[in-house]
Amino acid sequence: MCLFCKIAAKQIPAKILFEDDELVAFHDVNPVAPTHVLVIPKAHVASLGDAAPEHAALLGKLMLAATRAAELTGVAQGGYRVVANTGANAGQSVFHLHLHVLGGRAMGWPPG
Ligand code: 5GP
Ligand code: ZN
Repeated sequence: MCLFCKIAAKQIPAKILFEDDELVAFHDVNPVAPTHVLVIPKAHVASLGDAAPEHAALLGKLMLAATRAAELTGVAQGGYRVVANTGANAGQSVFHLHLHVLGGRAMGWPPG
């Protein structure tokens, strides 16, 4: 089982913001912004690049969960960023699909 599968299965503790049958939103252990939440599907999908047409509804739910995480952490009004690092050049380090929800400070563009 991969790291985020273990978090989804509660085999590794995490600070969970909310969850439902299909996804979990939890705080990143090494936050890079005042709000840094990860939204993951409970089912293992290695990356956004591995998502298939059958995952379309799940991907929509993950995006809506990202907006919910922004609302619950109080960053929705000020603005926030939703990021899916995908593959080596993007710096993906955990190969279980996750959306980063980053907020609570101004961010630059382009990202590093
Ligand atoms: P990536 O670099 O793959 O886009 O993002 C992986 C994220 O997972 C990183 O921001 C990292 O801090 C976070 N992370 C890695 N291991 C753990 C863990 O055990 N618990 C939590 N809550 N976050 C983790
Ligand atoms: Zn996994």
